Amino acid sequence: MGIADSTVDLIGNTPLVRLNHLPQAAGVKAQVVVKLEYMNPGGSAKDRIAERIIDAAEREGKLKPGGAIIEPTSGNTGVGLALVAQQRGYRTIFVVQDKVSQSKRDVLRAYGAEIVVAPTDVPAHDPRSYYSVADRLTERIPGAFQPNQYDNPNGPASHYATTGPEIWAATEGKVTHFVAGIGTGGTISGTGRYLKDVSDGKVTVVGADPDGSIYSAASPADQHQYDVEGVGKEKYPGAFDRAVPDEIVRVRDAAAFETTRRLASEEGLLVGGSSGMAVAAALDYAREHDLGEDDLVVVLAPDSGRSYLEKIFNDDWMRGHGYGDVVERTSRPSLVA
Ligand code: PMP
Repeated sequence: MGIADSTVDLIGNTPLVRLNHLPQAAGVKAQVVVKLEYMNPGGSAKDRIAERIIDAAEREGKLKPGGAIIEPTSGNTGVGLALVAQQRGYRTIFVVQDKVSQSKRDVLRAYGAEIVVAPTDVPAHDPRSYYSVADRLTERIPGAFQPNQYDNPNGPASHYATTGPEIWAATEGKVTHFVAGIGTGGTISGTGRYLKDVSDGKVTVVGADPDGSIYSAASPADQHQYDVEGVGKEKYPGAFDRAVPDEIVRVRDAAAFETTRRLASEEGLLVGGSSGMAVAAALDYAREHDLGEDDLVVVLAPDSGRSYLEKIFNDDWMRGHGYGDVVERTSRPSLVA
């Protein structure tokens, strides 16, 4: 592959790796492979949407030299945007809620972003909320552009153009199922739509959703708080195409976290909680539908477990949040008492 001209040129073309332990232990006969989005330069699938959103904004004249990118985000999208923006000479300002950890703010600052902190305990329409603050900054700062990842069609379009074709090529068209968590819905809508188009509808698309989120809730009474980050929603975003998933599997936090920890300890894959949730959904689906050896299930793992060391991989945090039984099942005995 030689020498890339810029870190932005390293976005995409992430590897697929086969799971050799978890499916077998779950009695799943299908082949289950994971697409490792933490291999992107900013460490997540969000680098893809950042590049395409910025490209489109430049083309449409919404971003001009010296312009600023303003978004209410604390996580992967911020990193992706900051990375692409600094390479193109734009200022980035992220509005984050005060509950966002110092380490997440530090990562964004390390990439050169400016951080504005807004209170967590106010509703979205309150003028102090991080959404309202971001909107005001976008109005007031000359040359400001707000990507709005939840409604920006370039999110799903980036996955249609890159993630989908990469999976089709890497599996030589043998992929039968695609499984992904749903946050903005961009990943599943773009990738899933591409795989359906290219396979004449033969690829089955399965969404993974936290127990409590709207995508898998039968009624509003089924919506409640959950701990897994980056996925699930309380209202439908524009980036999500509800026609794409054939089925949506509901995953409880405990199952998502247990699978996340086992991916690290048994498969050597240090991935985040939404990745564990997607793998848990894939294994449930494969078992339920009795998928066989010829079925090739591709699961998208959005980011790295490094961002969750203080939570999912910390036994005290897990016990404190009611996941003591998960800790007992997934911890190896220590030699030092
Ligand atoms: N996992 C993590 C960790 C994320 O940050 C996101 C994006 N919010 C997702 C999964 C879901 O991806 P998408 O927004 O494309 O549905």
